[in-house]
Amino acid sequence: MKVLKFGGASVQDAEAVRNLALIIKSFHQHNLVIVVSAMNKMTNNLESLLHSKMMQDEELRSKLENIAGFHRNITRQLFPEDHIVFEKVDNLLQDLTTLSLQEPHYSYDKEYDRLVPYGELLSTTIIHAYLEMQDIKNTFLDARQVIKTDSNYRSAHVDLIQSEYLINSLFSSGEVEKSILTTQGFIGSDAQGQSTTLGREGSDFTAAIFASALNAEEVITWKDVPGLFNADPRLFDHAKKIEHISFRETIELAYYGAKILHPNTIKPLYNKGIPLKIKSFI
Ligand code: ASP
Repeated sequence: MKVLKFGGASVQDAEAVRNLALIIKSFHQHNLVIVVSAMNKMTNNLESLLHSKMMQDEELRSKLENIAGFHRNITRQLFPEDHIVFEKVDNLLQDLTTLSLQEPHYSYDKEYDRLVPYGELLSTTIIHAYLEMQDIKNTFLDARQVIKTDSNYRSAHVDLIQSEYLINSLFSSGEVEKSILTTQGFIGSDAQGQSTTLGREGSDFTAAIFASALNAEEVITWKDVPGLFNADPRLFDHAKKIEHISFRETIELAYYGAKILHPNTIKPLYNKGIPLKIKSFI
């Protein structure tokens, strides 16, 4: 079992989704859990949409149209006109629209966790269907069924024991095909079944939770850089790639602000000795 995590840049457009399918094909001899983020900068766009909802400002509709347009467009580029995925995407967009146009009921953070997960739900709906169309059989899982958290909306704490138990039960019940599971990073649910989120960049953490629960061989996180560098290679010409690094040193790097991984990611992997690789989707 391997866990592959795809961040927003690795699913930023139709071409990137096609590339993701090629990557998955190259792993065909393995059982996989595929953890996917919202496409491109969708989480930022949804945050901005939420802002307009909370302020009840007039940009709300145009922001909503942009988000809907982006997902409809990418779906059109990937699928034939009569594909069932259009209906699924439209249903999600309809729910998002209803939610956005409702007057705010709850705290900012709770409203955030009701709205922002749509980025992940839309991306995984599209990717699940696209993989199926490419004859890559995979099971769609709503991660909120198994990633259980407290109600600290917007940076919810994961109940690792319960979440790992639920993931294992799901696999041992035979409810999911062992081969490939497609699910969302970043989102979970609390004891009342309300959506929660794990904090920005939380998908790495989701991948680590699945890996730990299933005693995965490794986690591979696909980025637009070919590994871990001692500085941001997009900013510094002389940044050096670090071939290997211990869990402990990674925690130190994260502590000093390196934006490589969600800080909670390392612990579940460290506890089980599961290696994490960073690879370039390019
Ligand atoms: N989509 C979320 C974000 O942009 C989670 C993630 O990508 O890890 O922060």
